[in-house]
Amino acid sequence: MHTDRDVADALGIHSGYCIAWRPRYRFVSMSTDLPLAELSSAESLLVAAGRDRRPGAPLNRPPVPASNFVLGTERAYARDDGTPTWEALEEIVGLLEGGHTVAFASGMAGVAAVFDQLRAGSQIVLPDDCYQGVAGLAESGRQKGFWSLRRLAVDDTEGWIRACADADLLWLESPSNPLLAVADVRAICSAARKPTALVAVDNTFATSLNQRPLDLGADVSFQSATKFIGGHSDLLSGVVTVRRDDLRAALRRSRELNGATPGALESYLAVRGARTMALRLERAQANAMVLAERLQAHPRVALTRYPGLSSHPTHPVARAQLKGFGTIISFDVRGDAAAADAVCSRVRLIHHATSLGAVESTIERRAGIPGQEHLPPSLLRLSVGIENVEELWADLASALRDE
Ligand SMILES: *Cc1c(COP(=O)(O)O)cnc(C)c1O
Repeated sequence: MHTDRDVADALGIHSGYCIAWRPRYRFVSMSTDLPLAELSSAESLLVAAGRDRRPGAPLNRPPVPASNFVLGTERAYARDDGTPTWEALEEIVGLLEGGHTVAFASGMAGVAAVFDQLRAGSQIVLPDDCYQGVAGLAESGRQKGFWSLRRLAVDDTEGWIRACADADLLWLESPSNPLLAVADVRAICSAARKPTALVAVDNTFATSLNQRPLDLGADVSFQSATKFIGGHSDLLSGVVTVRRDDLRAALRRSRELNGATPGALESYLAVRGARTMALRLERAQANAMVLAERLQAHPRVALTRYPGLSSHPTHPVARAQLKGFGTIISFDVRGDAAAADAVCSRVRLIHHATSLGAVESTIERRAGIPGQEHLPPSLLRLSVGIENVEELWADLASALRDE
């Protein structure tokens, strides 16, 4: 909770002006703030949360580039106590996911803070198909003897349930990158596990609009805010959401001690991105369904993976668990790696670039990337943006043409 002075200081407003700011008005930024507690739709929360509602306050929480605050409140130093800008982002994501959110410098900084909760000698279970940075972090800790590591197929629900008995951290990624396999998160979370064990879900591909992992029983929901929340390929940020107060405090402590703090401008941009996230996702997801169906029927495509296709192996779980099927498609071009590279070199509207979740569509061959050696050499991952779907298809179809 912040006091008026805290906010006034944070916004650089001289204390003399506080009279006009009604110094006795209680500033409450969290979910008790009218009308947030009454809003049940993600669309409205994305727009309404993370704002100051006092008369005279700026409608948009400004970027506050402060390390240091005048003493006398709970906020003394940014790395320890946060800033109003980070808190706007944390409030929005926390309300969307139904928990308390801690924001980090990047997605990987958030992942590292979750791994930081483990004691020496712990056992981690990771999906066989997952984000290469997470696999890399887990593998580097294993090599140093910090923990042991097991990998399981995303859709091996029985295997995950059995693993719950011994594991200290079950890290699920669903849908997975880039094979888009969907884990039965609810079934895995309901299995008996050690009281200290954590189940975490990388929710980056689904986003909080399509999946709320804490409602499915997970202890930790993680998202790279670099992707859909930011939505414009112009920032790095990560968010970790939990319900337990002790876990939230431990994540904040980890952020403080490791200095994994978000940037002021990045947090501001992430909030700005979040405002339009529901609209962006709706459009991009509709585009993705159309493109997935057409890719599946295309003679130069050997296999199309999209959780919304009934041909997808985990389509039934996806239908039961996700509100929408997301904006990522992966497909294998007939032929070798060079045939797939040729497609990437021919697209003109779509960008040949990595990353995902932005307004612009991007395409990339994934097998060349360290940690992604398990993939077919001609697999392309397409992140569908909000462009006109017919123009996207024209671009793809032309890039897929035979030489
Ligand atoms: C990008 C990404 C991450 C890492 O996030 P950064 O913001 O790049 O550090 C983790 N998981 C998934 C699924 C991602 O796509």
